[in-house]
Amino acid sequence: MSKKIEKKIVGYKVVSDEVKAETEAKDDTNIIQMHEKVSRPETLSGSTYKIKTPLSDHAMYLTINDIILNEGSDHEQRRPFEIFLNSKNMDQFQWISALTRVISAVFRKGGDCTFLVEELKAIFDPQGGYFKSGGRFMPSIVAEIGWAIEDHLQKIGLLAKTEISEHQQKIMDEKKEEFESKLKVKPSPEPSEFPENAQVCKKCSVKAVILMDGCMTCLNCGDSKCG
Ligand SMILES: [Zn+2]
Repeated sequence: MSKKIEKKIVGYKVVSDEVKAETEAKDDTNIIQMHEKVSRPETLSGSTYKIKTPLSDHAMYLTINDIILNEGSDHEQRRPFEIFLNSKNMDQFQWISALTRVISAVFRKGGDCTFLVEELKAIFDPQGGYFKSGGRFMPSIVAEIGWAIEDHLQKIGLLAKTEISEHQQKIMDEKKEEFESKLKVKPSPEPSEFPENAQVCKKCSVKAVILMDGCMTCLNCGDSKCG
């Protein structure tokens, strides 16, 4: 293919790696990142988490909807976009709607939103928290929302799952058995699968920390003061 040059040639450039990199960088500007101007598509898909607390007869349903940015490209990314909380119990309505609106705004603002998880999980209800089945201590309803958001962000790959290696699990199981046989206590009939006199773990909030060989060790997540 030939092209007639109608203007005077005033300069030229040979296609080099540098030029290629420039063009590629230009392509990068087409990648959509999450920011407040991204408009909401007609439909969004998400997940709903049921939250049942002993504080109310009615369960709460937390829905987190995600947006998929750059769909079908190498830069495809799933990000949380909005959060809703529904319950028949309207006692906490004004605070919960304020909270979910602010969280939705943080999602839509873009950038890292994973900090929300630790912030919410650290909220203590001055009237005291409660234990979930499985032995996890929940300091407040807000903390429940934090745990649900953490689950969700792990599911969509924005937060890493804390996995316990097979080897570590084996050691934990052995320690649990040894501890129980020493005390000659049968595992409690409670929903908790950990020794009755275990303490609450600072890392995973499960009542599963026992003193073994002079070391406070969590039988649920493996957290140990002695490494
Ligand atoms: Zn733990």
